[in-house]
This record gives sequence, C-alpha cells and structure tokens, in this order.
Amino acid sequence: MASDVCSHVRVVVRVRPTTEREKTENCRSVVQVVDNHMLIFDPKEEDASCFGSQRVRNKNINKRANKDLKFVFDQVFGEESTQGDLFEGTTKAVLDGVMNGFNCTVFAYGATGAGKTHTMLGAQNDPGVMYRTMTELFKRMEDAKEEKEFTVAFSYFEVYNEQIRDLLANIGPLAVREDSSKGVVVQGLTLHKPKSAAHILEALDSGNRNRTQHPTDMNANSSRSHAVFQIYLRQQDKTASLNPNACVAKLSLIDLAGSERASATNAKAARLREGANINKSLLALGNVINALADPKNKKTHIPYRDSKLTRLLKDSLGGNCRTVMIANVSPSSKSYDDTHNTLKYANRAKEIKSSLKSNVVSLDSHIGQYAVICEKQRQEIVQL
Ligand code: ADP
Ligand code: MG
Repeated sequence: MASDVCSHVRVVVRVRPTTEREKTENCRSVVQVVDNHMLIFDPKEEDASCFGSQRVRNKNINKRANKDLKFVFDQVFGEESTQGDLFEGTTKAVLDGVMNGFNCTVFAYGATGAGKTHTMLGAQNDPGVMYRTMTELFKRMEDAKEEKEFTVAFSYFEVYNEQIRDLLANIGPLAVREDSSKGVVVQGLTLHKPKSAAHILEALDSGNRNRTQHPTDMNANSSRSHAVFQIYLRQQDKTASLNPNACVAKLSLIDLAGSERASATNAKAARLREGANINKSLLALGNVINALADPKNKKTHIPYRDSKLTRLLKDSLGGNCRTVMIANVSPSSKSYDDTHNTLKYANRAKEIKSSLKSNVVSLDSHIGQYAVICEKQRQEIVQL
C-alpha cells in the first residue's frame, strides 16, 4: 500500500546574532525581521539599525542601496531564536514523515560564517538540530516500542571536491550507486548503531575533526565540504502476522559548504578549485530545486547527475521525500551580497511541490517479493 501526500519544501531563514567584531566595526544591519514569516533585506534608512555606537558611512554606495526587499518564508527565525526553536520549527515535523516511512532532508545553506554549523551541529552545551533530532527520535521509538520494532543506524560523510569521504571511518573516496530497492547507496560507507543521543554527538564531533576545512578571509574554520549526516530507520509492526508492513526511511541532515563566491574569500589556486566545485554543486542543487519547483516541468528531466551532492540527494529531494531548507544569514552589512544571494536562493526553493510516496512495502500482496525483502533486511541487520 503506498500513500500519496502532497507537500512542499519548507524554507526557513535563520538570522544569526551580530558578532562582537561586527559590533566594533560599526556594521549596519541589513536584515530586519518583521514577524515570523517576513523579513526586509536592506531596509530603508530610517528602519535600519546600526550595531555600533557611531554610524560609519560605507564607501561603496551600492551597499547602501536601501533596496528594501521584502521576503516571505515558511518561517523566519530572528537573532534571538534558540537552538530549541530551530529544531521545533524545522526538523521535529519531518520526524513525523520519517516515522511514516518517508525519506526526509534538512539542509543548512548559507555563506561561511552565517551559522550553518551552529544550527546543525551546535556546541556541546547548546547542541543543534542533529543532536535534538536523535533525542526526539529515541523518545518516539521508546513511545512506540510496544507496537513496533525499530532498527536505527547512522553514517556521517563529506562531499569535498566531488569526492565522498567517510568522516567516521576516515576513509575515501567512496562511490555512489543507485539501488532499485535501497535508493542511493554510498558503497563502503560505515553504518553505526547509536547507543544514545549523546553517543551521536560524540561521533559527530569526532567526525567533524576529519572534515576538510581551510581558513579563508571570511572565517578561520571555513568548511569547504558538504557534511552529510544520515539516519536510517527501519520499523516493522510487532503484530506482523496481522499487518505485515515494514518500512525503511532515511533522514539526511546536511551542513552545506559555504555558498560565498570565491572572490570574497581571497582564494588562491587550490582554494579556487574547491570553490569552483562548491559553487558547481550548490548551483546543481539550485537547478534541481528549480526544476522540481517549475510547474511546467513534467519531471522528465531533473538534473540530479550534475554533481555528487545532487546524485546523493536523488532519493531525498522531490519525489519520495520531504525537505526543509534552513537558509542561514548574517545581519551585517559586511555580508551584504552573501545575505542577498542566500535570500534569493531560498526564495526560489520555496516553490517545490512534490508528490510523496511512503516507503511502505505491502508484503502480503507479493509473497515472492517478501522473500527478497526479508533477505535484504537480514543483510542490513548484519551490516549494522
Ligand atoms: P558557518 O558554519 O555557516 O560557517 P558557524 O556556524 O561556524 O557558521 O557560525 C559562525 C560563528 O557565529 C560561530 O562562532 C558561531 O558559534 C556563531 N553563531 C552562528 N549562529 C549563531 C547563533 N544563532 N547564536 C549564537 N552564535 C552563533
Ligand atoms: Mg560551518
């Protein structure tokens, strides 16, 4: 039995607080949060606030254009928003989808320094979406344990220069292939069984130390790779003889590489190559999103193959999936172009409409299929 649900991609914006450095540099605020859904980019002079005590005239007149552009999103999180607010307003709802057998994706998009890693990973004393998702997932599995049997596993890898690297086993490059029943599979990727949500946080922390980072002018810890945390949840009714349904769902939580243009980071040759690959994959991601968003596109050609990232997300964007984009922006006039570009990118992503199909497999309809599925699940359990 497959259930069809119509849904769209949820796009939210998070404006991070101003940093001490921005305050001392008297940067102007170029983002005004109006309410939970609307923000104004580059508001008119009388609405704009100045972080520092004195207002310093910006030499570049274009940066003070007072474009006064209004953007509306599914939700806007202001500077005072907490990690808990972000989780409640984004990923918590997609967990309903995961529990119902849908593939789901949450990704953080934005320039270096805009708050992506803070939102997704966070700090030990203030964990982000990844940890909170696992905590909630454990709670839900506990609540439903009388009726259902769960198997959960996770992996953590990066896509750097179009190559995939396992951040937990520190191995790579790994190949991607498509499997008719499992969807997109990264060959040789290690799967780990979480003991607790705290165990996940430790694993992510140590995986992050393997992540490819290089200092750029924008941020001493600029992430040059896309970090992909995937949780696989298999669930089966305990009353299997009465209702023999099994479903496997994949939740991808992604901390994308910085979206800034290479020139902004004063990049040298090697960094330029990285930058080109980052821009290529983010462009490809944008193109896939726009192709899915275009009501005239009959979905005959969605350009998933244009980058590793989009190939990886083929079963996680559009079609059989639910998606949340968290667009992270800095409010500072120093990040004027990056913030503007991120808002434009997020604005285009809003339109995706997709027809969802739950990964529920009706075992009693095809006895032959049942044997195949059981064998695959047995192999999955052996791998866990
Ligand atoms: P990115 O991953 O996009 O490059 P980071 O998440 O590393 O950016 O954020 C840059 C800096 O700003 C870090 O020091 C981070 O702790 C801080 N920061 C980002 N977002 C917030 C927030 N919402 N609240 C407090 N500090 C934040
Ligand atoms: Mg980061």
